[in-house]
Amino acid sequence: MPEFPEMEAWRRQLDEPVSAFPVVKAGPAHIATLKTFDPPLDELVGRTFSGAERRGKRLLFPTEDGELVLLVHLMTAGRLKHLLADEKAPKTPAFALEFQGGSKLILTENAKRKRAGVWLLTPEQAARELEHLGPEADSLDAEQLGEIVRGESRRLHALLRDQRVIAGIGRAWANEILHAAKLSPYALSKDLTDEELERLAAAMRTELARGLELRERGASDEKTYRVHHKLGEPCYVCGTTIAQVDFEEHTIYYCPECQTGGRILKDRRLSRLLR
Ligand SMILES: [Zn+2]
Repeated sequence: MPEFPEMEAWRRQLDEPVSAFPVVKAGPAHIATLKTFDPPLDELVGRTFSGAERRGKRLLFPTEDGELVLLVHLMTAGRLKHLLADEKAPKTPAFALEFQGGSKLILTENAKRKRAGVWLLTPEQAARELEHLGPEADSLDAEQLGEIVRGESRRLHALLRDQRVIAGIGRAWANEILHAAKLSPYALSKDLTDEELERLAAAMRTELARGLELRERGASDEKTYRVHHKLGEPCYVCGTTIAQVDFEEHTIYYCPECQTGGRILKDRRLSRLLR
């Protein structure tokens, strides 16, 4: 799933083109993709967006008149593209907008199960839709992060990915950040020393900035990630083989030398069954 670096790179890319011309056609929209019916999509016709904004992993396109907000959540497989008038658009996009002059904003989702979503909301509805989100991941210093992580006792990998606690980090960047911070994905948040907390805050800042810089240049996953999906490859710091621990829906990647004092993390569900 695209996270802060990916979403912010797209936001910067889309900001200008989506606000250049008014919408002349709203839709079509896949029935599973468009999550709202009031206000109707046609309400966008004739209006111009003020630009592209982002909150956590969601993109927001408010109209210039302040009356409507188009909210987009790409989930895992959704991709948003701005196409010029002469560029070929996919035949069956999950969602499309056409601007005056023929350019388009297209949402595609290459997956059997449509999970990406588009909401057309009033600013009040949009605020309610976003109110559960924690502070932005790239904006936190060590002190703010300390208040957040010490507020609950949870494993760091799960805590960093919880959008209600911190908005913008998912599986991939939790792997990258914890590796850069030399912290175990299983470490308990309330056990962090001041020094470890400083390291975590610094790693969040530098890793998210590194990711954004690479994504703005169009870097691939392969080039962007150094730990995520790197099972069996040498750690970029110490050369130890990157290990993984599997969960039902995701996998944690880590370096046993840098992060867990040489310990191999066990799948906790499996160990429970064997106990
Ligand atoms: Zn290492």
